Amino acid sequence: MRLLNAAELLDIWEAGRVVTPSRRSLLLLSAVYPEEREVLANMPIGGLNARLLRLRVQLFGSTLNCLASCPECNAPIEAAFGIDGLLSHAIEPMPEENATHSLTHEGYTVDFRLPTAADLLAIVDKPSTKAAGGLVERLIDKSLHQGEVVSTPELPGQVLEALERQISELDPLAHIELNLTCPECRNDWLEVFHVIDFLWLEVGNMAKRLLFEVARLASAFGWSEREILALSPERRRSYLELLEV
Ligand SMILES: [Zn+2]
Repeated sequence: MRLLNAAELLDIWEAGRVVTPSRRSLLLLSAVYPEEREVLANMPIGGLNARLLRLRVQLFGSTLNCLASCPECNAPIEAAFGIDGLLSHAIEPMPEENATHSLTHEGYTVDFRLPTAADLLAIVDKPSTKAAGGLVERLIDKSLHQGEVVSTPELPGQVLEALERQISELDPLAHIELNLTCPECRNDWLEVFHVIDFLWLEVGNMAKRLLFEVARLASAFGWSEREILALSPERRRSYLELLEV
């Protein structure tokens, strides 16, 4: 993974402001893994999430501090999670070519592949009621029942549920859930953790801090944005401290 400099981080943040989370993931990851730019969109989602988690460690450290509220008593919860623990579930090496897998359940055989960012981008404009079905259609290559081909809309619900379970087992980092406990009422629940949404908030905060630093230093010293962003973070901070004196 290569390091992002301040100017690149601002460019990515600007380009990612009005796009979907999948596009944001691809923007960030193609900048830090340029050698994988061509394959990222067709990599299983868990592979992208593992890379986003590693980028998060590089940019902001390995502890996730999460805020949530208890679904039972509404108490605010603060919890810390180590990214190393989440990454221990990563399947690696994640195949670049998305392989075909097979599920056998209740007499049905379903050939399928794991969902990718390209799949999520393909269904993003569909209404939510049709999006899930659209995704399943894209993932299933062929289904058979007693030797007869079965179309995806004809598959029984329990086969689709088994398929969902198998996808989670094959790519555990595609859907991350954090185990939270309420300190007030001891209620336990699983909170879905969207890596890109969490990371994007942090990237946004960092971008706004950088813009503040540029504005402050430019107005004090007359330097250009490019000159200020080329300074090391320590050098920028030292100049800002001079202005506070
Ligand atoms: Zn509670």
